[in-house]
Amino acid sequence: MKPVVQLEDIYKTYTNGEVQVHAVRGVSLQIQAGEFVAIMGSSGSGKSTLMNILGCLDRPTKGRYLLDSVDTSDLERNERADLRNQKLGFVFQGFNLLARTTAVENVELPMLYSPIRVPPSEMRTRAMKALDIVGLADRADHLPNQLSGGQQQRVAIARALVNHPQILLADEPTGNLDSRTSVEVMGVFQRLNDQGITIVMVTHELDIAHYCKRNLIVRDGKVVRDEAVADRLISAVEMEKLRNAEAAAKLIHSA
Ligand code: ADP
Repeated sequence: MKPVVQLEDIYKTYTNGEVQVHAVRGVSLQIQAGEFVAIMGSSGSGKSTLMNILGCLDRPTKGRYLLDSVDTSDLERNERADLRNQKLGFVFQGFNLLARTTAVENVELPMLYSPIRVPPSEMRTRAMKALDIVGLADRADHLPNQLSGGQQQRVAIARALVNHPQILLADEPTGNLDSRTSVEVMGVFQRLNDQGITIVMVTHELDIAHYCKRNLIVRDGKVVRDEAVADRLISAVEMEKLRNAEAAAKLIHSA
Protein backbone atom coordinates (compact mmCIF):
# COMPACT_ATOMS: atom_id res chain seq x y z
CA MET A 1 0.00 0.00 0.00
CA LYS A 2 1.24 3.49 -0.84
CA PRO A 3 1.64 5.90 2.07
CA VAL A 4 -0.62 8.97 2.13
CA VAL A 5 2.30 11.05 3.32
CA GLN A 6 5.85 10.52 2.16
CA LEU A 7 8.55 12.96 3.20
CA GLU A 8 11.96 12.32 1.67
CA ASP A 9 14.89 14.05 3.34
CA ILE A 10 13.04 17.32 3.92
CA TYR A 11 14.91 20.48 4.89
CA LYS A 12 13.54 23.93 5.65
CA THR A 13 15.89 26.84 6.14
CA TYR A 14 14.67 30.35 6.87
CA THR A 15 16.93 33.19 5.93
CA ASN A 16 16.59 36.45 7.83
CA GLY A 17 19.21 38.81 6.46
CA GLU A 18 22.54 37.23 7.34
CA VAL A 19 21.06 34.67 9.69
CA GLN A 20 19.96 31.22 8.61
CA VAL A 21 17.65 29.15 10.76
CA HIS A 22 17.56 25.45 10.01
CA ALA A 23 14.02 24.71 11.18
CA VAL A 24 13.76 21.22 9.65
CA ARG A 25 16.90 19.20 9.02
CA GLY A 26 16.55 16.03 7.01
CA VAL A 27 13.19 14.53 7.93
CA SER A 28 12.13 11.35 6.14
CA LEU A 29 8.78 9.97 7.11
CA GLN A 30 5.95 7.81 5.87
CA ILE A 31 2.39 7.89 7.13
CA GLN A 32 -0.04 5.21 6.00
CA ALA A 33 -3.78 5.62 5.54
CA GLY A 34 -5.61 5.17 8.82
CA GLU A 35 -2.75 6.24 11.10
CA PHE A 36 -3.25 8.63 14.01
CA VAL A 37 0.00 10.47 14.62
CA ALA A 38 1.00 13.01 17.24
CA ILE A 39 3.99 15.24 16.55
CA MET A 40 5.57 16.39 19.79
CA GLY A 41 8.54 18.49 20.77
CA SER A 42 9.46 21.57 22.70
CA SER A 43 8.90 25.11 21.43
CA GLY A 44 11.16 25.93 18.49
CA SER A 45 11.84 22.29 17.62
CA GLY A 46 10.27 22.61 14.15
CA LYS A 47 6.75 21.19 14.65
CA SER A 48 4.89 24.09 13.02
CA THR A 49 7.32 24.23 10.11
CA LEU A 50 6.79 20.50 9.56
CA MET A 51 3.00 20.90 9.79
CA ASN A 52 3.08 23.80 7.32
CA ILE A 53 4.96 21.60 4.88
CA LEU A 54 2.56 18.67 5.44
CA GLY A 55 -0.35 21.07 4.91
CA CYS A 56 1.13 22.38 1.62
CA LEU A 57 1.15 25.84 3.18
CA ASP A 58 4.89 26.08 2.83
CA ARG A 59 7.48 24.42 0.61
CA PRO A 60 10.59 22.66 1.79
CA THR A 61 13.95 24.18 0.89
CA LYS A 62 15.12 20.71 -0.09
CA GLY A 63 13.59 17.25 -0.31
CA ARG A 64 10.48 15.72 -1.77
CA TYR A 65 6.96 15.55 -0.35
CA LEU A 66 4.46 13.17 -1.88
CA LEU A 67 0.89 13.69 -0.70
CA ASP A 68 -1.30 10.77 -1.68
CA SER A 69 1.30 9.96 -4.36
CA VAL A 70 1.18 13.52 -5.79
CA ASP A 71 4.63 15.11 -5.85
CA THR A 72 4.05 18.56 -4.35
CA SER A 73 7.58 19.83 -5.08
CA ASP A 74 6.88 21.39 -8.47
CA LEU A 75 3.34 22.61 -7.88
CA GLU A 76 2.44 26.25 -8.28
CA ARG A 77 0.80 28.13 -5.45
CA ASN A 78 -2.76 27.69 -6.79
CA GLU A 79 -2.16 24.01 -7.55
CA ARG A 80 -1.05 23.50 -3.98
CA ALA A 81 -4.20 25.30 -2.79
CA ASP A 82 -6.37 22.95 -4.85
CA LEU A 83 -4.54 19.90 -3.54
CA ARG A 84 -4.93 21.22 0.01
CA ASN A 85 -8.65 21.72 -0.53
CA GLN A 86 -9.20 18.27 -1.93
CA LYS A 87 -7.04 16.17 0.33
CA LEU A 88 -6.60 17.96 3.64
CA GLY A 89 -8.79 19.20 6.47
CA PHE A 90 -7.39 21.66 9.02
CA VAL A 91 -8.19 22.08 12.71
CA PHE A 92 -6.56 24.91 14.66
CA GLN A 93 -5.99 25.68 18.31
CA GLY A 94 -8.20 28.79 18.19
CA PHE A 95 -11.13 27.13 16.30
CA ASN A 96 -11.12 30.02 13.74
CA LEU A 97 -14.90 30.11 13.30
CA LEU A 98 -16.56 33.17 11.78
CA ALA A 99 -18.24 34.96 14.67
CA ARG A 100 -21.48 36.16 13.15
CA THR A 101 -22.04 32.99 11.18
CA THR A 102 -23.99 29.97 12.38
CA ALA A 103 -22.38 26.59 13.00
CA VAL A 104 -23.81 25.07 9.81
CA GLU A 105 -22.74 28.07 7.70
CA ASN A 106 -19.23 27.83 9.14
CA VAL A 107 -19.14 24.17 8.11
CA GLU A 108 -20.31 25.06 4.59
CA LEU A 109 -17.40 27.47 4.01
CA PRO A 110 -14.75 25.05 2.64
CA MET A 111 -17.24 23.92 -0.01
CA LEU A 112 -17.37 27.49 -1.34
CA TYR A 113 -13.62 27.34 -1.96
CA SER A 114 -13.52 23.80 -3.27
CA PRO A 115 -12.23 23.38 -6.83
CA ILE A 116 -14.88 20.68 -7.17
CA ARG A 117 -18.13 22.63 -7.32
CA VAL A 118 -20.79 21.54 -4.85
CA PRO A 119 -24.37 22.39 -5.82
CA PRO A 120 -25.88 24.81 -3.24
CA SER A 121 -28.67 22.35 -2.45
CA GLU A 122 -26.09 19.74 -1.52
CA MET A 123 -24.04 22.08 0.67
CA ARG A 124 -26.55 22.20 3.50
CA THR A 125 -27.05 18.42 3.45
CA ARG A 126 -23.31 17.78 3.57
CA ALA A 127 -22.71 20.37 6.31
CA MET A 128 -25.51 18.89 8.42
CA LYS A 129 -24.06 15.41 7.96
CA ALA A 130 -20.65 16.62 9.13
CA LEU A 131 -22.23 18.29 12.17
CA ASP A 132 -24.07 15.07 12.91
CA ILE A 133 -20.77 13.14 12.84
CA VAL A 134 -19.41 15.37 15.61
CA GLY A 135 -22.68 15.16 17.54
CA LEU A 136 -23.81 18.74 16.98
CA ALA A 137 -26.65 18.53 14.47
CA ASP A 138 -28.96 20.04 17.08
CA ARG A 139 -26.74 23.16 17.39
CA ALA A 140 -26.58 23.92 13.66
CA ASP A 141 -28.23 27.33 13.99
CA HIS A 142 -26.15 28.47 16.97
CA LEU A 143 -23.56 31.21 16.64
CA PRO A 144 -20.05 30.39 17.92
CA ASN A 145 -20.53 32.54 21.06
CA GLN A 146 -23.57 30.41 21.91
CA LEU A 147 -21.39 27.30 22.00
CA SER A 148 -18.86 26.03 24.55
CA GLY A 149 -15.17 25.81 23.59
CA GLY A 150 -15.45 22.06 23.05
CA GLN A 151 -18.52 22.50 20.87
CA GLN A 152 -16.76 25.21 18.83
CA GLN A 153 -13.85 22.86 18.24
CA ARG A 154 -16.29 20.13 17.17
CA VAL A 155 -17.82 22.58 14.65
CA ALA A 156 -14.29 23.27 13.40
CA ILE A 157 -13.72 19.52 13.04
CA ALA A 158 -16.99 19.22 11.08
CA ARG A 159 -15.77 22.06 8.85
CA ALA A 160 -12.50 20.19 8.30
CA LEU A 161 -14.43 17.05 7.34
CA VAL A 162 -16.91 18.52 4.92
CA ASN A 163 -14.80 18.16 1.75
CA HIS A 164 -14.10 14.51 2.65
CA PRO A 165 -10.35 14.94 3.18
CA GLN A 166 -7.93 12.05 3.25
CA ILE A 167 -6.02 13.56 6.14
CA LEU A 168 -6.97 15.76 9.07
CA LEU A 169 -4.15 18.04 10.20
CA ALA A 170 -4.67 19.48 13.66
CA ASP A 171 -2.38 22.06 15.24
CA GLU A 172 -2.66 21.97 19.05
CA PRO A 173 -6.41 21.23 18.76
CA THR A 174 -6.84 20.95 22.53
CA GLY A 175 -4.55 23.87 23.40
CA ASN A 176 -7.45 26.17 24.32
CA LEU A 177 -9.56 23.57 26.13
CA ASP A 178 -9.74 22.34 29.71
CA SER A 179 -8.69 18.74 30.32
CA ARG A 180 -12.21 17.25 30.39
CA THR A 181 -13.14 18.96 27.13
CA SER A 182 -9.78 17.97 25.61
CA VAL A 183 -10.61 14.32 26.28
CA GLU A 184 -14.04 14.82 24.72
CA VAL A 185 -12.44 16.31 21.57
CA MET A 186 -9.86 13.50 21.46
CA GLY A 187 -12.84 11.14 21.60
CA VAL A 188 -14.20 12.76 18.44
CA PHE A 189 -10.81 12.33 16.72
CA GLN A 190 -10.60 8.71 17.86
CA ARG A 191 -14.04 7.97 16.48
CA LEU A 192 -13.14 9.59 13.15
CA ASN A 193 -9.90 7.63 13.03
CA ASP A 194 -11.82 4.41 13.77
CA GLN A 195 -13.87 5.27 10.69
CA GLY A 196 -10.66 5.36 8.64
CA ILE A 197 -9.56 9.01 8.55
CA THR A 198 -5.84 9.60 8.84
CA ILE A 199 -5.02 12.18 11.51
CA VAL A 200 -1.80 14.06 12.18
CA MET A 201 -1.74 16.46 15.10
CA VAL A 202 0.77 18.64 16.83
CA THR A 203 0.54 18.69 20.59
CA HIS A 204 2.90 19.47 23.41
CA GLU A 205 0.75 17.61 25.91
CA LEU A 206 2.01 14.10 26.59
CA ASP A 207 -1.35 12.84 27.86
CA ILE A 208 -3.09 14.07 24.70
CA ALA A 209 -0.49 12.31 22.55
CA HIS A 210 -1.42 9.09 24.36
CA TYR A 211 -4.83 9.14 22.63
CA CYS A 212 -3.00 8.83 19.28
CA LYS A 213 -1.54 5.63 17.87
CA ARG A 214 1.93 6.82 16.94
CA ASN A 215 4.12 9.48 18.51
CA LEU A 216 6.89 11.38 16.77
CA ILE A 217 9.27 13.48 18.81
CA VAL A 218 10.95 16.36 17.01
CA ARG A 219 14.08 18.02 18.33
CA ASP A 220 16.23 20.61 16.55
CA GLY A 221 14.42 20.00 13.28
CA LYS A 222 14.86 16.23 13.31
CA VAL A 223 12.60 13.34 14.23
CA VAL A 224 14.47 11.83 17.16
CA ARG A 225 11.83 9.30 18.18
CA ASP A 226 9.08 7.53 16.26
CA GLU A 227 7.12 4.90 18.12
CA ALA A 228 3.75 3.23 18.41
CA VAL A 229 1.82 4.19 21.55
CA ALA A 230 1.85 1.12 23.72
CA ASP A 231 -0.49 2.23 26.51
CA ARG A 232 -2.97 4.11 24.36
CA LEU A 233 -5.77 5.95 26.11
CA ILE A 234 -9.28 5.50 24.78
CA SER A 235 -11.79 8.21 25.40
CA ALA A 236 -14.76 6.40 23.86
CA VAL A 237 -15.92 5.46 27.33
CA GLU A 238 -15.73 9.09 28.35
CA MET A 239 -17.71 10.04 25.25
CA GLU A 240 -20.36 7.48 26.10
CA LYS A 241 -20.52 8.83 29.65
CA LEU A 242 -20.92 12.36 28.32
CA ARG A 243 -23.60 11.33 25.88
CA ASN A 244 -25.48 9.49 28.61
CA ALA A 245 -25.18 12.53 30.88
CA GLU A 246 -26.45 14.80 28.10
CA ALA A 247 -29.34 12.44 27.36
CA ALA A 248 -30.17 12.27 31.07
CA ALA A 249 -30.06 16.06 31.34
CA LYS A 250 -32.39 16.34 28.35
CA LEU A 251 -34.81 13.89 29.95
CA ILE A 252 -34.73 15.82 33.21
CA HIS A 253 -35.34 19.11 31.40
CA SER A 254 -38.18 17.71 29.33
CA ALA A 255 -39.85 16.00 32.33
P1 ADP B 1 7.73 24.82 16.94
O1 ADP B 1 6.44 24.77 16.17
O2 ADP B 1 8.19 23.47 17.36
O3 ADP B 1 7.68 25.78 18.09
P2 ADP B 1 8.78 26.21 14.62
O4 ADP B 1 8.64 25.30 13.45
O5 ADP B 1 7.80 27.31 14.77
O6 ADP B 1 8.88 25.34 15.95
O7 ADP B 1 10.22 26.87 14.56
C1 ADP B 1 11.42 26.16 14.33
C2 ADP B 1 12.58 27.16 14.24
O8 ADP B 1 12.43 27.94 13.07
C3 ADP B 1 12.63 28.14 15.40
O9 ADP B 1 13.97 28.41 15.69
C4 ADP B 1 11.94 29.37 14.85
O10 ADP B 1 12.40 30.53 15.47
C5 ADP B 1 12.34 29.31 13.39
N1 ADP B 1 11.32 29.91 12.48
C6 ADP B 1 10.05 29.53 12.32
N2 ADP B 1 9.42 30.26 11.39
C7 ADP B 1 10.35 31.17 10.95
C8 ADP B 1 10.33 32.22 9.97
N3 ADP B 1 9.24 32.48 9.25
N4 ADP B 1 11.47 32.93 9.80
C9 ADP B 1 12.58 32.66 10.51
N5 ADP B 1 12.67 31.68 11.43
C10 ADP B 1 11.57 30.95 11.65
